[in-house]
Amino acid sequence: MTKVKDLVFPSLPYAYNALEPHIDAMTMEIHYTRHHKAYFDNLNAAVKDSPMADLSFDELLANISKYPVAVRNNGGGHFNHELFWSVMSPNGGGKPGGELLKAIEKDFGSFEAFQELFNNAAKTRFGSGWAWLAVKADKSLAVCSTPNQDNPLMDVSECKGTPILGLDVWEHAYYLKYQNKRPDYVAAFWNIINWAQVEKNYAKAL
Ligand code: MN
Repeated sequence: MTKVKDLVFPSLPYAYNALEPHIDAMTMEIHYTRHHKAYFDNLNAAVKDSPMADLSFDELLANISKYPVAVRNNGGGHFNHELFWSVMSPNGGGKPGGELLKAIEKDFGSFEAFQELFNNAAKTRFGSGWAWLAVKADKSLAVCSTPNQDNPLMDVSECKGTPILGLDVWEHAYYLKYQNKRPDYVAAFWNIINWAQVEKNYAKAL
């Protein structure tokens, strides 16, 4: 994977208003240009002139307990948001296909049962954090949530694996449109999931 010092701030793969009405344009613009950009800039500042800059990004995340908390928060913040933008699309929604759907049905019983688990993970994460669909070391699927900007790649995470779908449940991700109604935001997310990308992430994680 890319060395930490060679990470680039990714371009957003669609316009700020592309995910309307599910995610409003102002939330997208602020989230991408200010929140994600700040995590990216603060990560670079935290690793500058340090041996951490020469590590691969996945190695840094996998051993995050060894590094300063600013690297954990901002490194997670950068990774998580880059994944988040990529798993949404104005042409999203519906259900996955192929091997991913088969694996979801095998590991959770049905797509609907998986949705309920994911919704509960997103809704019950107290305070700020993320809900995930991840591929575990044994290649089975898991749904879980992590606090703050942690993610399943980190050695500190209670839930370990390769995240293939993530939902940001920080208030900055939904407050302008949904205020305190996180469950409505979580429900709307299903309309914009880019399953083609999640299927690619799944194939890569196997
Ligand atoms: Mn965010």
